[in-house]
Amino acid sequence: MKVLILGSGLLGVTTAYELGKRGFDVTVIDRNEESARETSYANGGQLSYSHAEPWASPAVLSKLPKWIGRYDAPLQFKLRADWQMIKWGLRFFGNCTTKKASMNCVNMLRLGLYSRKKMQEMREESGVQFDFGSKGILHIYSKDEDFAHAKTQLEFQAKFGCVQKILTKDEVYALEPALKHSERVIVGGIHAVEDETGDPFLFCNALAEVATKRYGVKFMYGVTIEEINVKGKRVVSVTTDKGDMVADGYVMAMGSYSAAMLRDINISVPIYPMKGYSITINANEHCPNISMTDGTHKIVYSRLGDRIRIAGTAEFAGYSQALNEKRIEPIIRAAKKLLPKADWNQEIKRWACLRPSTPDGPPIMGNTPYSNLFLNTGHGTLGWTQAAGSAAIVADAMEGKIPGILLQGLTLERYVK
Ligand SMILES: Cc1cc2nc3c(=O)[nH]c(=O)nc-3n(C[C@H](O)[C@H](O)[C@H](O)COP(=O)(O)OP(=O)(O)OC[C@H]3O[C@@H](n4cnc5c(N)ncnc54)[C@H](O)[C@@H]3O)c2cc1C
Repeated sequence: MKVLILGSGLLGVTTAYELGKRGFDVTVIDRNEESARETSYANGGQLSYSHAEPWASPAVLSKLPKWIGRYDAPLQFKLRADWQMIKWGLRFFGNCTTKKASMNCVNMLRLGLYSRKKMQEMREESGVQFDFGSKGILHIYSKDEDFAHAKTQLEFQAKFGCVQKILTKDEVYALEPALKHSERVIVGGIHAVEDETGDPFLFCNALAEVATKRYGVKFMYGVTIEEINVKGKRVVSVTTDKGDMVADGYVMAMGSYSAAMLRDINISVPIYPMKGYSITINANEHCPNISMTDGTHKIVYSRLGDRIRIAGTAEFAGYSQALNEKRIEPIIRAAKKLLPKADWNQEIKRWACLRPSTPDGPPIMGNTPYSNLFLNTGHGTLGWTQAAGSAAIVADAMEGKIPGILLQGLTLERYVK
């Protein structure tokens, strides 16, 4: 069976590898000159399987009034006359109840824990090198209220098989001695012992190479997808700037750009871009070895070989990928306070891109009303974490197999009234 995968980010590449391994004849199309040049390029690097609390939650709702109008707020809505954003925002607020946040959390945790298993298999089978780290993720808190909330969340997730450890302030410093130089107050921490890290760009391009050499997967770069053509309940071709392309099956993995293209064929998916920023610096001896999440400022720190990646902020400002210095500056300021002895005189690599976000949190995977079109998109803040599990789920759907986990709350069905 011939399959066309639309988009070569984390979700497109992992799906291509998985389908290639299962004997499909796979071609991946992307407008860039290599894989993972958009949102999968310089993300936070965290494989945070244990991080399943959605942005849409009562905790965030209660903080929003304090964040309004602040350029350094972790979450920023820029009011615009954009009907898709307004609709998305209303749905987001509708998901900020305890009941809905708990349900979305359980669905994301199930996918996260499955992805951990699938990532291990993919890593070992493929042998790809991507500055992988397996020391877990250390969550640190500056305020008692944030630490208390995290402990409640830990207890809730533990019921569903998530292993995390509560740490005193002293245990935090013992686990990551680099924090001893920090100018920040730390009241306590949580160690997500089974979480991991790695560079998504290195991973995608190394995996694409293995998929090509081992399974004959073809990657067509520099090709822009313009339209999906349908007849009855089937996709018949895809129009690109290099001509029409035909296959038996199609996978939508275009990240934030999935929604508009699907709307043209009457599939409505509530995916909206949530812009985020990262910086990358070369590590010195005072930098952390473990990946960290600053739970109070919502900034992540990942050790990627001899580099440190620091990422954060969520900004709703349409589809512009432009880097806004005003939004990246708070990340640099927070990082300098947490790691004052890192080398801040070097050139800091800055990056911004768009998380393909759903208002409830989980991605949208699997079947569509078109019998040969499948979705693997809308992974928002957790696309690196959930990529390997999502690829297996979509490949199972294409083979008509029973998926490895219950798909409740992870498919298009949840939006169909
Ligand atoms: C600042 C930041 C930090 C993050 N940190 C983490 C983290 O620590 N852990 C984690 O799990 N996740 C993290 N994420 C989220 C994660 O990076 C995303 O969920 C993931 O990259 C989404 O992958 P994707 O394949 O869906 O999208 P993309 O990587 O954007 O891939 C989509 C592809 O489609 C292509 N495309 C789009 N339109 C067209 C077209 N018309 N024609 C041809 N090609 C097209 C693009 O070129 C692109 O390559 C972070 C994101 C950001 C922005």
